[in-house]
Amino acid sequence: MAFPAPDPDLAADLIRGRGDVDGLFAEACRLRDEGKGRTITYSRKVFIPLTTLCRDRCTYCTFAKPPGAGGAYLEPEDVMSIARSGEAAGCTEALFTLGDLPEERWPQARAFLNERGLVSTIEYVARMSERVVEETSLFPHANPGVMSEADIVALRPSNLSMGLMLENVSRRLTGIGMPHHGSPDKEPAVRVATIEAAARRDVPFTTGLLIGIGETIEEIVDSLLAIHRLDRGGIQEVIIQNFRAKADTPMRRDPEPTVQFTARVAAAARWILGGRVNLQVPPNLTDRFEVYLGAGINDWGGVSPLTIDWVNPEAPWPHLDELRARTEAAGFRLAPRLPAYPEYLDDRWIDPVLLPAALDAVDDEGYALAPQAIA
Ligand code: SF4
Repeated sequence: MAFPAPDPDLAADLIRGRGDVDGLFAEACRLRDEGKGRTITYSRKVFIPLTTLCRDRCTYCTFAKPPGAGGAYLEPEDVMSIARSGEAAGCTEALFTLGDLPEERWPQARAFLNERGLVSTIEYVARMSERVVEETSLFPHANPGVMSEADIVALRPSNLSMGLMLENVSRRLTGIGMPHHGSPDKEPAVRVATIEAAARRDVPFTTGLLIGIGETIEEIVDSLLAIHRLDRGGIQEVIIQNFRAKADTPMRRDPEPTVQFTARVAAAARWILGGRVNLQVPPNLTDRFEVYLGAGINDWGGVSPLTIDWVNPEAPWPHLDELRARTEAAGFRLAPRLPAYPEYLDDRWIDPVLLPAALDAVDDEGYALAPQAIA
């Protein structure tokens, strides 16, 4: 008997572990196999934390730091040094991740930008993305927080793709005592507006959920449905990221989602979003990460042979040989991809500045060439 069509109440029950959970997993794998085959992708990246200053105050975050306590911008030469090291190690992605609008909160941020003739942090992202494109073989992926449509237009010629985690669509999480209180950039409407702007500009876009931060199961389902509604074909990838409690944060004692729970959310995501979207669970946040292959995912995301996961610094990425061995042992092929997935490598989705180099960097199937094969 065919598995039922997606339904919010049924999705909530299944995520809770009630009902035909085995059927959900089977349906998620069927949709993945139908849409993506048996190839699991990853992106060889370097992580460039352009600034660890941020105007927001998310209570699970250790990435953002105030000035004087580690909050700072990377200098241009630091950025280029990371990028060149990544190039030498065969990476293809320069992931620019940074705090949101630090200049709106910290005078030190405004001073850094003023001294360099920059009007905004986003302009700094654009300038450094352009240098990475001009001076290395890496392709930037900008993950700079909330972006206006003008920001997206400015970044598009130097970024193969962009991203912003929706995290959750519930405004409740911005209330007093909740993780997004005091974080204006975590207002769901603001994040939805960024995703909509990226769609209008034909940018391959990555988004996703952060689960385990105090949301209800119904809010998880609402968030998956919201992403499904927002998708006009440009949401290339949805990440299901499990919260990890970090020392020195207000949420250090909060329970973390279990592997089984995260897998059920991933399977529900595949069921709701269908076989077209690429679905990722990061492999460095769970020891038994192969479990997620049985929940319908088809991507491990950015994996770096060089740089730490600055968002989860306690969780090293698996070595690429181990990732390959464990993926293949589960019956899949592991293939490297660029920051844009193969199906987006055309002149609708990729700026003409980047498209020729991107096509030169992939094989006939659109997967990234092995480092030694890149001219
Ligand atoms: S917006 Fe991002 S960097 Fe800033 S505090 Fe929140 S999680 Fe941390």
